[in-house]
Amino acid sequence: MDHPPLQAIRNIGIISHIDAGKTTVSERVLYYTGKSHKMGEVHDGAAVMDWMEQEQERGITITATTTSCRWRDCWINLIDTPGHIDFTIEVERSLRVLDGAVTVFSAVEGVQSQSESVWHQADRYRVPRLCLINKMDRIGADYRRVLEQIVKRFDARPVLLQLPLGEEGDFAGVIDLIGEQCLLFSEADQGLTVTAEAIPAERLEEVRSAREVLIEAAADFDDQILNDFLDGRTVDSSRLRAALRRGVLECQLFPVLLGSALRNKGIQPLLDAVVAFLPSPLEAPPVRALVEGDGLQERFLSCDPDGPLCALAFKVFSDAGRKLTYLRVYSGTVHAGQELFNGARGQKEKIARLFRMHAHKRERIEAARAGDIASAVGLKDVLTGDTLSAEQEPLVLEGLSVPEPVVSLA
Ligand code: GDP
Repeated sequence: MDHPPLQAIRNIGIISHIDAGKTTVSERVLYYTGKSHKMGEVHDGAAVMDWMEQEQERGITITATTTSCRWRDCWINLIDTPGHIDFTIEVERSLRVLDGAVTVFSAVEGVQSQSESVWHQADRYRVPRLCLINKMDRIGADYRRVLEQIVKRFDARPVLLQLPLGEEGDFAGVIDLIGEQCLLFSEADQGLTVTAEAIPAERLEEVRSAREVLIEAAADFDDQILNDFLDGRTVDSSRLRAALRRGVLECQLFPVLLGSALRNKGIQPLLDAVVAFLPSPLEAPPVRALVEGDGLQERFLSCDPDGPLCALAFKVFSDAGRKLTYLRVYSGTVHAGQELFNGARGQKEKIARLFRMHAHKRERIEAARAGDIASAVGLKDVLTGDTLSAEQEPLVLEGLSVPEPVVSLA
């Protein structure tokens, strides 16, 4: 399919302190979604692993790019964000193109200073976030401590969506507090299957009080839930999910999931949460662009494929001698072969080819619409941070137009 529906797109990044497990989580996400992409074909799991090994050898998928993968009915564009403090400007640039993010914390090490700086940057760009408390299988894993740290150090409101089943090496699943069921991870067929089971009687009280906390958080975003809760009526789970989503989009609530990326555990519920709670580009706030005319005027652009063309080059690098420019299209539609205007440099540029980068291949596409992430070949002098628009309607996105050298993978 050339154009996924806009409401089915999730432009997200995985952000974390170094060593918390970002790379492992990203790999698992690609493995899972890459695998499901191939489901209808004759390839078996081994073919998927071959592809992963190649990608790892080239170091491209995980370390330096954007990958589109499919989960259920959604297209997830996974945008790489550097985790190291030295790349703060780069982190800021990539945060700007994210509509949502998954913040990974280690259940053992907890919140660290780098996690704090990335969190505050994400606050600045108002990026809605989910949290994954990773390494739940490790000795000393303590998710409650991480929750407390999120409250104290970020002054944020985390909402726990799951309770663990089993501790440390015996971490075997989670209790899903919204659906009120146990999700047991079984490690069959190289991946994992999530099977739903009934909650054991001895955990019912604990689940009830954890769910109450969740409902109280959701009640701030839905009066009906508040009334149901106060009157002791059952709260409908789809209504609960919708209210939590509102809280997430307003950057007021941060749902928390538990997992262990190393052992694949918890990645499927995480993907489900990305689809359920993080926004599509249609729900992202309009971007502010400056128009040259009688002095500089500002213009707010919402995600409209028929609007004035406005795309941001957020990453430029050279791959096998070819310059590849990653674009986030905010408004309008970019076509292969189209002439564009680089407002920051006052230059015309032509896009030779456009691609969507999949987990396991590069797909040529004819057009990228508002909300899409694509890579382009043919843009000669475009640098990271430049805005591309139509010559007759030049626009420059506010800020970040800082020249930087082309990154080479060679
Ligand atoms: P990054 O620096 O954030 O990208 O972290 P990595 O994904 O490279 O992970 C750092 C280390 O932690 C590696 O040795 C991983 O194998 C290990 N690791 C990642 N996730 C888990 C997990 O859930 N459980 C355990 N036990 N180890 C993990």
